Amino acid sequence: MTSPPRPRAACLIGWPAAHSRSPLIHHYWLRKLGIEGGYSIEAVPPEHFSDFVARLSAHGFVGANVTIPHKEHALALSLPDERARAVGAANTLWIEGGELRSTNTDVEGFISNLDASTPGWDSAEEVVVLGAGGAARAVVFGLIERGIKCIYIVNRTMERARALADQFGDHVDASAWKGLGDLLPRAALLINTTSLGMHGQPALDIDVGLLPPEAVVNDLVYVPLETPLLAAARVRGLKTADGLGMLLHQAVRGFELWFGQRPQVTPELRALVEADLLRT
Ligand code: NAP
Repeated sequence: MTSPPRPRAACLIGWPAAHSRSPLIHHYWLRKLGIEGGYSIEAVPPEHFSDFVARLSAHGFVGANVTIPHKEHALALSLPDERARAVGAANTLWIEGGELRSTNTDVEGFISNLDASTPGWDSAEEVVVLGAGGAARAVVFGLIERGIKCIYIVNRTMERARALADQFGDHVDASAWKGLGDLLPRAALLINTTSLGMHGQPALDIDVGLLPPEAVVNDLVYVPLETPLLAAARVRGLKTADGLGMLLHQAVRGFELWFGQRPQVTPELRALVEADLLRT
């Protein structure tokens, strides 16, 4: 007698196993699409990460999301696609043809969110990216992939901005924070990838009044849902895209890879996650 096949399952691997919205998102899609499957959170310390990933299938998983502090290690242990390589970190793993593969879905999340929230954004000639950390790398790679020709990276630590600009080549320049006064009046798209404006962090102190009236403002921070930057942009009548949109869109690819159907980011899903964010 053969035992019935186990339902497909994926997980989020982190240490510590922080509170994450990923189970809420993936369980919503499993339910909506009528797929028998699972998504759990696995607390795995750094010293056990390689072993856990090597035995992902044996643990019953077809793939995983990876979060702090494992993203660089996940890249090194897998066959990364171009996006994961460019970002220097993998946040999604899956097994294909017996090989462990990886990608970085922040790139897709960033682009799909702008496409959904502010269509036409990619006609921008000059784009200003605030920040030069991991999220900025995904954003800059996405902008270049989409054909944006003139990107300025503005960061507190100038060497990090320069290193990122050097990595991405001709279309990217670094600028000091004090150069913003000159850059903002020409920016068709402003993206905050710093943690400034997040609950518990200092405010992001910039004047959106300097932006042109048709500019789009995108904040990756999603706690609070409407950051002071987005609120100021809205009051000024600018188009905006928020961080929650990116968070939801970045989850699409992993679900598709693990469960074989491409899910939708719906207003119902957004409302579900918004309610959870407001509760905590
Ligand atoms: P990270 O690698 O630690 O980079 C943090 C960035 O913020 C750096 O550029 C840092 O500048 C800047 N920064 C931090 N504190 C600052 C301060 N007091 N003044 C000026 N600049 C400051 O972090 P990350 O992974 O890129 O994430 C950045 C933000 O994006 C976080 O809020 C994260 O939650 C959000 N995020 C959202 C999504 C989404 O799906 N919505 C996805 C990824 C990330 P220095 O280089 O000078 O330190």
